[in-house]
Amino acid sequence: KKEDDSKSYWESYAGVDIHETMLKDAVRTDAYRDFIYNNKHLFAGKTVLDIGCGTGILSMFCARAGASKVLAVDASAIIHKARENIYHNNLSSTITCLSGRIEEVTLPVPQVDIIVSEWMGYGLLFEAMLPSVLWARDRYLTPQGLMVPSHTSLWLAPVADPVWVADNGPDFWADVYGFDMRAMSAGIFDDARVLHWPTDKICGTAAAAFKMLDLYTTTAADLQFTAPFSVTLEQGKNEKNKDPVDGFLVWFDTFFSPQAPADRMQGVPLAADAKALEWCLGADGKKDQDRVAFTTGPWGTETHWKQALLLFGLDKEDKDKAAKKGDNDGKADAEDEEKKDEGAEVVEKKEEQGQQEIRGEITFS
Ligand code: SAH
Repeated sequence: KKEDDSKSYWESYAGVDIHETMLKDAVRTDAYRDFIYNNKHLFAGKTVLDIGCGTGILSMFCARAGASKVLAVDASAIIHKARENIYHNNLSSTITCLSGRIEEVTLPVPQVDIIVSEWMGYGLLFEAMLPSVLWARDRYLTPQGLMVPSHTSLWLAPVADPVWVADNGPDFWADVYGFDMRAMSAGIFDDARVLHWPTDKICGTAAAAFKMLDLYTTTAADLQFTAPFSVTLEQGKNEKNKDPVDGFLVWFDTFFSPQAPADRMQGVPLAADAKALEWCLGADGKKDQDRVAFTTGPWGTETHWKQALLLFGLDKEDKDKAAKKGDNDGKADAEDEEKKDEGAEVVEKKEEQGQQEIRGEITFS
């Protein structure tokens, strides 16, 4: 799902299936619905811009919540279905459908009070739609305007599963029905793999949050970053493995907050998944009406985003070298293992303090 201005990107959103998958992802769609319906006072009488409206679902939530005008924009042919959906629900007088890229359509108003968009891609940023949303924010959103969602955070956790790696990595291609098919495994680790990973393969004591995006202030330049992280390996979990870590699992959480711009960041957790959900609870432990969050992490209900797996691409020779080096000088001057994928790169620096802690950097580019 990577936007590259190519016809195939827009064609991929023209059919029914992809929208059915998104609509049936209740973790995702419920979160938008709950935030919008629980905060009708924020939407009443307001002008809303829905960027990438798809079937029109988010526009219709906003219209039902009392918005006086909704502009539904999509560059895919799905916009024609959105127009029909909106007509069949008697919302055509409130919602105006505009066909085209948000950067190219002419809006009938100079400013909007609220921007709603479901722009999140695999690994949050692999689908490069967020820059379009940020461009529209800078161009159209009023100074006190509302971004829906308001924040996202990025997470990673180390994973180890030698059996899976043997079944899906170079070892599989080394012998296929007795034939050497190593040619097939070139670049095998270059792409992030999208899969819902069982939590028992996670070999860290906790996940590490490495990036928070405040959708009010983030710029397109902020989306290319290198962030440090540190994770502690769970003791006893990897004793039988010859490699303590096979790679990293990356996922994101999404937050919807109506807070005023000045205290937007306050209280938004850059902590574990459980904390993210706690953040949505009021002081009395009951669910706060106006805050909503969801996680796409391995401990949460599976979403259509699943998680992104970044595997280390060391071949056997490198691994042996790394092991030898570890034996010879047990100290911090460590191996750098590199993992490249379409957009993210992890450089792991193994601090050989009993191999319990991994500190590194992850680069999104
Ligand atoms: N809002 C819908 C669909 C989300 S999928 C829902 O929540 O179900 C994202 C949609 O954004 C796709 O339909 C895609 O065609 C559209 N899109 C992506 N980038 C866009 C851009 N720059 N301008 C207009 N539409 C865009």
